[in-house]
Amino acid sequence: MSNKNPITEYEYINLIKEINHANYMYYVKNNPIMADYEYDSKFRKLQEIENNNPAIKVQQSPTSRVGSTPSKDFPPVQHMIQMTSLANAFNKKEIISWYKKIQASLETENIEIVCELKIDGLAISLLYLDGILARAGTRGNGITGEDITPNIKTIKTIPLTLMIDNPPSEIELRGEVFFPKKEFMKLNNERIKTGLEPYASTRNSASGSLRQLDSSETAKRPLDAFFYSFGYITDSSSINSINTQHESLICIGKLGGKINPWTKKFTDIYQVFEAIDDANRIRSKLNYEIDGVVIKVNDLNYQKILGITGRNPRWAIAYKFPAETTITTLKKIHINVGRTGALTPWAELEPVIINGVTIKKATLHNSDEIKRKDFREGDNVIVQRAGDVIPQIVSVVNRNKNMNLKKFTFPKFCPDCKSEIVKLKNDATSRCLNTKCPTQFERLLHHYASKPAMNIETLGERLAKSLSRSGLIQNLSDLYVLEKKITELEKLENMGTKKIKNLIHSINESKNRPFYRLLFALGIPNVGIETSRWISKELKNFDEIISASLNKFTNIDGIGNVTANIIFEWFKVEENINLINKLKILGVKSESENLTSTILNNLVFVFSGRLENITRGEAHNLIEKFGGKSSNSVTQNTNYLVIGDNPGSKLNNARNLNIPILEEQDFLKLFEINK
Ligand code: NAD
Repeated sequence: MSNKNPITEYEYINLIKEINHANYMYYVKNNPIMADYEYDSKFRKLQEIENNNPAIKVQQSPTSRVGSTPSKDFPPVQHMIQMTSLANAFNKKEIISWYKKIQASLETENIEIVCELKIDGLAISLLYLDGILARAGTRGNGITGEDITPNIKTIKTIPLTLMIDNPPSEIELRGEVFFPKKEFMKLNNERIKTGLEPYASTRNSASGSLRQLDSSETAKRPLDAFFYSFGYITDSSSINSINTQHESLICIGKLGGKINPWTKKFTDIYQVFEAIDDANRIRSKLNYEIDGVVIKVNDLNYQKILGITGRNPRWAIAYKFPAETTITTLKKIHINVGRTGALTPWAELEPVIINGVTIKKATLHNSDEIKRKDFREGDNVIVQRAGDVIPQIVSVVNRNKNMNLKKFTFPKFCPDCKSEIVKLKNDATSRCLNTKCPTQFERLLHHYASKPAMNIETLGERLAKSLSRSGLIQNLSDLYVLEKKITELEKLENMGTKKIKNLIHSINESKNRPFYRLLFALGIPNVGIETSRWISKELKNFDEIISASLNKFTNIDGIGNVTANIIFEWFKVEENINLINKLKILGVKSESENLTSTILNNLVFVFSGRLENITRGEAHNLIEKFGGKSSNSVTQNTNYLVIGDNPGSKLNNARNLNIPILEEQDFLKLFEINK
């Protein structure tokens, strides 16, 4: 072995094992065990070792393989042309060096370059037979992927049929499925509310969503996709006469595939740096995560000549944005008790600024993560903002014995109610199983009163805590007898007469919320607002729910086995049945109403912008049920334009035609009032 890099064979093999395990957890289990920054530096180290000591390289080295062995949970897909990864460049020098190499290989100075955004999602391959989507696969190890056809078909922007008159008998489109940022935040909030661990990144949630065994679960996620190349095409197709990457993108667009609008073509490699700066500038404004810029040789013939090396094409390189990291002190490790009893550790940090944002907290995921990385209070740590979302701690730096820091031991008892903490096999989360745990109850009360649940306006986090800690509310049904306890309420901090009046008014109003919102408000683990809707469609009241068999829940569209079991068990617990009975006696609406009505009397609704609480499909169904109609464009015949986030040109059209405009909340109210 060369002296350039003195490393033992044992260390080399261990590094390979570590990276292979990280690959398996990232690609197959969708549960990364290290930050990308840490992974990339380990991978680089391995590449350097092998470059300096070529004789050491073993066959199972991840440097010559793409991804990881595909999961056995899905049928295999054999790729007709290998799906590759991309070589990385972390600075401008590496881009120049790549460009010089290809200039030398092609023996020409003039090589046109195309820059595209590097979408941080999951690579997919779609095979169309005679223009119809026949098979969709993940990249897997590049040779064999996972067949996820039913799941891919749930993504609305993916063409099921190509927009071409004489499609080639076989044509493959390649692209990236991603999870939009705004929706990612919503999904994670919902996951936290329903007692599930939040996803670490949008890439993670895209992969998790796409690789669901039950495609109705995928259908619930707002996945989207961009296409960036063709794969296999039947020889006789005219598409084979396309000469450049840039033309390929235009052609994909014409076939109905969504392409990213940010594409730049250059003849001068130095212009690429301006493009990178531009991508960095617009990054935070995009509703999808990007982790760099892909720089490609435009000429497809040149691409063919350059070919691939091991796991990467020679004709492309991915410039990766530098990880947004900094060093700070981990002041304290806190444990958060969720409303379902899940205990999540988080780090209180000495505040630091990363990319203009002050970071004071970071997630620590679970007890295993703390143990594995040996985080201790007082440590200096590298903090990273994973994409734009949740800050994470990558690793400890510069700890020495003189610092005398105590190893962190995860509590054995709930930090609040002191009940024993339970960690079940195969569950990364530690849990407090005491349903009387005060923190759990405060969180539940806050959730019950929250906007998408019973919408009790003045009852926020602080009031939930003081109502519970004062003993005024010990059970959710106590809310509805609160008006008999005005004197006690007045004794609480910040509770004036007006606030009490508003609170009581809002509590009374909440009795009439639709049944599905009560179901959601009860805080049944895994049951979000959508699941509640599905249950209430099939089972119209608590009696039907309580007497339903497990099968009945499993058969409800959209509900998987695990959730069905949780719901079934929840309605077997005596304490929960007592609560439901009390709510019924106190006049809280406990059944779905028959929505069939002609109240909308052929009124025509048009939508513009993204709705927050309801999908477009659900909104259309509601309108139909009430005897109205929906249409796509604003005309003289439109009665209402309903606007969500970022409405488009329809808003101006409606204003010009004097058509009444409804915000989403007004639109929803229309139905609640009429129900
Ligand atoms: P990659 O994601 O760095 O690059 C290749 C992929 O980029 C392609 O497969 C394609 O899916 C995608 N891509 C997005 N936009 C594209 C465009 N416009 N044109 C072409 N391709 C585009 O490579 P990879 O092999 O998928 O993953 C390696 C990276 O994943 C690592 O650098 C690391 O950041 C991360 N990783 C992390 C862990 C971990 O434990 N944290 C483990 C494994 C991998």
